[in-house]
Amino acid sequence: MICEEEGCRAVRILVVEDEVKVARALKEGLEREGFDVAVAETGEEGFYRVNAEGFDLIVLDVMLPGRDGLQVLATIRRGGMRTPVLMLTARDAIEDRVQGLDSGADDYLVKPFAFPELLARIRALLRRGRPEPVLRFAYADLELDVVARTVKRKDKEIDLTPREFALLAYLLDHHEQVVSREMLARDVWKEPSRATPLDNVIDVHIARLRRKIDDPFESTLVQTIRGVGFVLREER
Ligand code: CA
Repeated sequence: MICEEEGCRAVRILVVEDEVKVARALKEGLEREGFDVAVAETGEEGFYRVNAEGFDLIVLDVMLPGRDGLQVLATIRRGGMRTPVLMLTARDAIEDRVQGLDSGADDYLVKPFAFPELLARIRALLRRGRPEPVLRFAYADLELDVVARTVKRKDKEIDLTPREFALLAYLLDHHEQVVSREMLARDVWKEPSRATPLDNVIDVHIARLRRKIDDPFESTLVQTIRGVGFVLREER
């Protein structure tokens, strides 16, 4: 199931496979697992349906009449579509696998394969595509709730600006790992090409955060690692 703001729906998978028996077995097996499955029997049809309908994942056989799986894949990726693609290749066609991964396949499976293996690969790709967002962080006596936008330490509510909140959430997500100013510039300030003046801005925000999070309490959480960056770690 995929749940978005509009509600929940089954995960939609397109199987592009010309061998009718294999296609039918895949469709039935995946439907039993709760997926919504469509089958395309040619590369042309597959390409058309990928563009016309929204799928969450594509199972793409390489050996197809007409436009083969690799050509379909290359065209899909050239168009900028990022839908995960699991490629099915023949046993000895190592070149197909290499070319497939080069053309933008996310994973491949060699025929014949066991259905549970296919299922495991599909689930892994779907997880990779949609990381579960963390909605609540807790570390030592600090709690941050992303949905309610609240921060508490020892049950005392702390008022943060949106930037301080994002900064603290990032530190919590990387607790006890050193976070560099480059990482903060890229991931919190969304400035991939780091300008030096941002270092000062980051330091000012860290100082303010520390005043709110640490100063009123016995132990400190936000530590500076000189010359490297910062770490969220409890120190007494
Ligand atoms: Ca085939």
